[in-house]
Amino acid sequence: MLTILRRIVLEFSQASVLDQALMRLVTQVKETLATQCCSIYLADHQQQHFLLMASNGLAPDTVGLTSIGFTEGLVGLVGQREEPINIANAHQHPDFMYAPEVEEEKFQAFLGTPIIHQRKVLGVLTVQQTQARVFSEHEEAFLVTLSAQLAMALASREAQGAILGRGQQNIGQQHKGIGGAPGIAIGEMVVIQPKADLSAIAVNQTDDITLQLQIFHDAVVRTLAEFCQLSEKLKSVISDSSLDIFDVYKQLLDNDSFKVEVIAKIKQGFNAQSALKLVVDGYVIQFEALDDEYLRERAYDIKDLGNRLLNHIQNQTEPEQDLPAKFILVAEDVSATLLAEYQHSGLLGVVSVNGSNNSHAAILAKALNIPAIMGIDYLAIRQLNQKRAIIDGYAYQLYVSPGAALVTEYQHILATELELQTQVKQAAHLPAVTLDGHAMNLMVNSGLSAGLEYSQNVGADGVGLYRTEIPFMNRNCFPSENAQTALYHTVLSSFAGKPVTMRTLDVGGDKSLPYFPIIETNPFLGWRGIRITLDHPEIFLVQIRAMLRANYQLDNLAIMLPMISSISEVDEAIKLINQAHYELRSELLNDQADCLARPKIGVMIEVPSVMFQLPELADKVDFFSVGSNDLTQYLLAVDRNNSRVASLYDFYHPAVLRALNYIAEHSSQLKMPLSICGELANEPTGALLLMAMGYQNLSMSAHSIAKVKWAIRHVEMQQLESMLAAVLRQTDVLNVHRYLHQQFVKLGLEDFVHGKWE
Ligand code: PEP
Ligand code: MG
Repeated sequence: MLTILRRIVLEFSQASVLDQALMRLVTQVKETLATQCCSIYLADHQQQHFLLMASNGLAPDTVGLTSIGFTEGLVGLVGQREEPINIANAHQHPDFMYAPEVEEEKFQAFLGTPIIHQRKVLGVLTVQQTQARVFSEHEEAFLVTLSAQLAMALASREAQGAILGRGQQNIGQQHKGIGGAPGIAIGEMVVIQPKADLSAIAVNQTDDITLQLQIFHDAVVRTLAEFCQLSEKLKSVISDSSLDIFDVYKQLLDNDSFKVEVIAKIKQGFNAQSALKLVVDGYVIQFEALDDEYLRERAYDIKDLGNRLLNHIQNQTEPEQDLPAKFILVAEDVSATLLAEYQHSGLLGVVSVNGSNNSHAAILAKALNIPAIMGIDYLAIRQLNQKRAIIDGYAYQLYVSPGAALVTEYQHILATELELQTQVKQAAHLPAVTLDGHAMNLMVNSGLSAGLEYSQNVGADGVGLYRTEIPFMNRNCFPSENAQTALYHTVLSSFAGKPVTMRTLDVGGDKSLPYFPIIETNPFLGWRGIRITLDHPEIFLVQIRAMLRANYQLDNLAIMLPMISSISEVDEAIKLINQAHYELRSELLNDQADCLARPKIGVMIEVPSVMFQLPELADKVDFFSVGSNDLTQYLLAVDRNNSRVASLYDFYHPAVLRALNYIAEHSSQLKMPLSICGELANEPTGALLLMAMGYQNLSMSAHSIAKVKWAIRHVEMQQLESMLAAVLRQTDVLNVHRYLHQQFVKLGLEDFVHGKWE
């Protein structure tokens, strides 16, 4: 049975014409269950009815015409109850609706199962039989399983616009991604296909090895030149570390083993493009097989590199693409290079089927201030070309062919955003003080996303979180102590006189190093952050030495330890920090040694266990900084990178807010300086609640500083305290949102919650 089921679903997913696919499906089900009728109805949420899309058993001329209201008949009942209905005699059921045109009088037994995707009823699958009997448990289980699997395939077709295309627009289809870049974009989508496609190359042999070697060599030279040109192009728009992304490509190309492998294949007799395909495929298979998300994304980089090399091998001259003046770029894999290529003033936003927040394209989009959505994994893009869309890069939400009301709403949000951006920027250099004189330190998060971080112009009081992972990721071996020292020195000296909190290497989970793969079933619960660096003191000590050396005579460094879950980890980390400090001092002359300060050390509060060890931690460290991204993930048991559960991941869940308040109350009793550096601080609602809780430093992306400052400058502490008290009484996350929305309207800050913007 399982094999049949798999075959039916596979055939359905692969068929290109929906009507035929549905017809084949009902026929196969009818045969498998040996019934006399099988039909499929699909939901039309605009019209509030189910449309008969295919049937083997009902009158054929009613297919595509007969509809049943959402609250009508047995089909409607299946949809409403969202559960199977299995009855021996349908005619006797109170909900039975007589529709003479379908000619179903002869059928008595009825079994219907709903087809549900992400809580939305997409349709109903039914089987009917003349004999009055209840369908067996076995038959019911088959239909339920089939419907569950069909849901995924149907959701994908719905995305292509194939389902409701019968004379109506696919108004307001909505798709949620797992990452991206903030901002709103409204415009026409342009679907970009790769210029050259290695996967379409048939492997061929040749006799002329010398010529093929020359072709490959020329392609490498031209591809390298192309990367330089693309990164040069962006230099005029951004001036920060996100451009390092292009180094990854250059390194891959410079990487001898990659080139040597291709050359070896050519020498074995393969032509240049076949040799390239064989080598790239080999790398891609290795990377794609890895559980680790960061490494999997390097497979996209390699594919992208392969396609670009192929394009130069084929030496095709592409016709200039006619792009609309303003457009949203859509592609299966939006790579950093593709983004760079299409970056110009008309690029409104980006949608990529693959990728996540860690994608190089997402990092670059943030730096370029282009709204983006990554990782809508069931989105079929072929039919999206030239369709209108809205990108909500705050909620990672894409609306295809949105209705007029939604467009108007988002146009309003966009206009308000632009207006407010101008308005709040004027206050960017004023202190973050409430109307009644309560001050707040606003710091920047730096390292992962780039942009304004290195600039002093955002009105930040320092760096609350410097993520050291990216410089480790963008290379093919661990950076040396000298390389790290130079990099950290740049960061510390750009904020000279202001505190900079550097976090020790936090890889594992969704972040991994290409040269240090970690393959685990549950990476977020596995070898992550401090767990790795304590197991590898040689890596930890080099990083600490580099930080201490970079801090020499600047003295604005604080060191922060990620993923702490036990006191012993803090003891061990401090021991290593002391060791590095002692060793460095002994390498210096006496008076220099005196200048080598031992920085403040803090821990991240992001694993729930440490919430209940705060007094013990307070005895050992100088500050706490809450990582609300992970704290939310671990408290709610929701993977922060899983699109299926994305709607459950919410910082405003009452348990998360109560946990944050608990930490603030206990830190205050312990007189421990308390910061927060997770995404929650980016939102004015979150920032104001945290301020009321007693957090002293809010660390956020550079783009958020001005708006958070603006919000703080327009409220009184007392208002915030009563808002917090009411929020902490809420038991449901939706009520928290509703309440905060109401309060922001009352405070005259409604635009900050309406369009969650940066
Ligand atoms: C966090 O977990 O809130 C945090 C700031 O760290 P990261 O997002 O890098 O895990
Ligand atoms: Mg974290």
